[in-house]
Amino acid sequence: MKSLWSDDDSKTAVARYGDKGIGEDLALRVYTTRLLGGEPRLVLHGGGNTSVKTAVKDLLGEIVDVLCVKGSGWDMGGIEPAGLPAVRLAPLLRLRSLVSLTDEEMVNVQRSNLLDSTAPNPSVETLLHAFLPHKFIDHTHANAVLAISDQPDGDAICREVYGSRVAIVPYIMPGFALAKAAAEVHEAHPDVEGLVLQKHGIFSFGASAQEAYERMIALVTLAEVRLERGNNRKFKVAALPKSVATAAEIAPILRGLSALPVKPESGVYRRFVIAYRNGSDVLNYVNGAELSRYSQQGVVTPDHAIRTKPKPIVLPAPVAGGLDRFADAARVAFDTYKADYHAYFVRNNAISDVKRKELDGAPRVALVPGVGVFGFGASAKDARIAADLAETTIEVITNAERIGRFESIREFDVFDMEHWSLEQAKLGKSAEKPLQRQVVAVTGGGSGIGAATAAAFAAKGAEVAVIDRDPALAEEVARKIGGFAIVCDVTDRAQVASAFERVAETYGGVDVVVSNAGAAWQGRIGEVTEAILRESFELNFWAHQFVAQQAVRIMKVQGTGGCLLFNTSKQAVNPGPDFGPYGLPKAATLFLMRQYAIDYGKSGIRSNAVNADRIRSGLLNDEMIAARAKARGVSERTYMAGNLLEREVTAEDVAQCFVALALAEKTTGAVLTCDGGNVAAALR
Ligand code: ZN
Repeated sequence: MKSLWSDDDSKTAVARYGDKGIGEDLALRVYTTRLLGGEPRLVLHGGGNTSVKTAVKDLLGEIVDVLCVKGSGWDMGGIEPAGLPAVRLAPLLRLRSLVSLTDEEMVNVQRSNLLDSTAPNPSVETLLHAFLPHKFIDHTHANAVLAISDQPDGDAICREVYGSRVAIVPYIMPGFALAKAAAEVHEAHPDVEGLVLQKHGIFSFGASAQEAYERMIALVTLAEVRLERGNNRKFKVAALPKSVATAAEIAPILRGLSALPVKPESGVYRRFVIAYRNGSDVLNYVNGAELSRYSQQGVVTPDHAIRTKPKPIVLPAPVAGGLDRFADAARVAFDTYKADYHAYFVRNNAISDVKRKELDGAPRVALVPGVGVFGFGASAKDARIAADLAETTIEVITNAERIGRFESIREFDVFDMEHWSLEQAKLGKSAEKPLQRQVVAVTGGGSGIGAATAAAFAAKGAEVAVIDRDPALAEEVARKIGGFAIVCDVTDRAQVASAFERVAETYGGVDVVVSNAGAAWQGRIGEVTEAILRESFELNFWAHQFVAQQAVRIMKVQGTGGCLLFNTSKQAVNPGPDFGPYGLPKAATLFLMRQYAIDYGKSGIRSNAVNADRIRSGLLNDEMIAARAKARGVSERTYMAGNLLEREVTAEDVAQCFVALALAEKTTGAVLTCDGGNVAAALR
């Protein structure tokens, strides 16, 4: 591993933060923390922390010795001075004389000694940083160090690799006890450059930011060199079927099996969003003949446990064309996983001093030979984090097996860490949004009603696939709402099928589909060409059928219900002159909606429509509005507000109707009007 230290960059950081009144110590602390945080082989998603001991002036102008230590919720790669809150050092040091300190007491004393009461909670490893005497301290969960330390003879290997440069601290859960033990080990070996915390990570320290950072890089490099002397990275391959099913085919099966029933009779599940990976390292690992041994030993570093659970679920290789058999086998595997997880809880809670609350038994990582790895989370972001940690686990175990046998911490230690309140606090306790954990696909999502609908669903917490035939529009909306853009001409059945495959591969499946794409064709019905009428039917009827078919196929595989939403139009109910080519397929689509409601109600799939009128959009542009207002001899404003409420109806209003129908758990076969009141278009 190469040092990225640059004298120029460090000076720039000191000057830049200096302009904002930040001292040199903290500026350099930010600079090297970012260097560490930018390297995923060192730290990932909050796994690691840094500190500097410095002095600051308090309100009264008195100089106070403080420890600036990484705060909870900050990512090292993008940290700012505010992410390294200052804690008064003297009160922290006095704690060392105590025999024990509860977690609550520790958090309280750390918080109550913050100079800024609004700062984030200092790291759970704050006391370890405080008790060591060095000015700059860096801590990472470097992959290479874990690979040499996560071994039955990890101590011996570390001694061989590091000699007297590093002292070894046996595994202890982070907190007060570990901080004291690390300080004692250091005092017995005062000349070391760092400490290896067995099966957890590594600390380096120095008098300057550069020294601590470069020692970290040097120590990690020594571990890398040791691994290079081991076997090559290829596992002996298991016997696999000639042709395996795709991730898009099996993800909805996994998504359905992982969903936790809350009120299944009302279609309410705690679903998971899924992230999929299949790089060459991942496939080498999941295709290994000994996967069920090396993947089931436990976590590579304890703080992964809250996001990955102690173990991943291992599924059989899915034979192409044999999805029913795979689904049956996967169901058994999920049931076994949940039962084993429950037994693990009971077994360890019985011997735990602190009685813990049982967490859900759904896996967060699935390993599928021939296919890859799937991460599960409450959001796409959480799913990606689980998948990232799974990839790190794969990297560490692959390397550990090159030089020996991977071994994790004891089961009770994983249990303790997974259920530790300070770890669970990292996941956040805020209430979930009403459509969180749901995957929504919106066609015609790049503009008008579709774009407004995509944004409205995202605002309710859903993961949104923005489907549009225009790549730039789809990308722009997706970027704005944090969704995923898919380019697709919905009148092409094959393109629709592959669009839904991409939704399944990206998020694991789909729960709500807003079939919105449409366009208006005109012509007097007795004279209009067959070509125009057929073209309108392609988009205003057939595309809805293609989309609904694909959605229902995935929803049935998931087995957790679903919701189809169609954008019909006033024309479907109340035809206007010369709008036959538009109204006829829309009327057919209204009946299509009802047919889906009838045929799939018993599968928990609801089907509803929004019947909107006079919405400013591509279908009704400014020019058309001006012409129609003129024809009626009214102002454009009066024309647009020509309804019972005398208010213009917007794309956002229509979007809210789609959201309302998605949330109406017992409503199906319904048409919701969104037109400000138009009795002629009312359904009866
Ligand atoms: Zn750590």
